[in-house]
Amino acid sequence: MSVMPVRGILLDIEGTTTPIAFVYDVLFPFARRRAVEYVKDADLTELKREHEQDVVAGTNPPPWSAGPVQYIHWLMDKDRKSTALKNIQGKIWLEGYESGELRGEVFPDVAPALERWRQSHIDVRIFSSGSVLAQRLLFSTTTAGDLTKYIKGYFDTTTGPKGDPSSYRTIADAFHIPAGDILFISDVSRELDAARSAGMQTLLCVRPGNHPQPANTHDTITSFDNVVV
Ligand SMILES: [Mg+2]
Repeated sequence: MSVMPVRGILLDIEGTTTPIAFVYDVLFPFARRRAVEYVKDADLTELKREHEQDVVAGTNPPPWSAGPVQYIHWLMDKDRKSTALKNIQGKIWLEGYESGELRGEVFPDVAPALERWRQSHIDVRIFSSGSVLAQRLLFSTTTAGDLTKYIKGYFDTTTGPKGDPSSYRTIADAFHIPAGDILFISDVSRELDAARSAGMQTLLCVRPGNHPQPANTHDTITSFDNVVV
């Protein structure tokens, strides 16, 4: 897929560089298993505060007396966007990556594309809902080697929601490249819509295991091999 000349490429992770299954079949179960160990000597103040808020809100969390792990698993089952849960998962994954038990996964076409784009002097950055720390860890430990040397910047949802055009304007500013010269690749058409509204070029990435997208007008790729810039 040939696009207009680009000077920057912004990549989503889940469903784009990395199988969605890596998150659900590797990362989440790892954090779930390790929660038992983790709570033994962790600061649970934030978690307890959220538990109290859940009790007040009437969402029926397991009682705190049943142990924090029960509550952590309850949050995980509900896929809650809980700050305390994200922090706990982040710390567990950090330990897993550092010990070598976890390794980041990317599709086989990703590393060759990053090398190709570097040779073309294209500025490559990441925008993912996972924390910047988790993004760095994933790319630094892949089976294809440490890919962080190819990546000039990382953005997470502290920059803004992935469905909000203003997030992409903020990111274009950080690139110091006009939005029109940046290509955003993602598996979610709603995110591409937002990037396009901000003036970016877009490609929809269709990978095995991705969720079908509603009808849209974004060009489609199935591999970064198809991205000719
Ligand atoms: Mg994605």
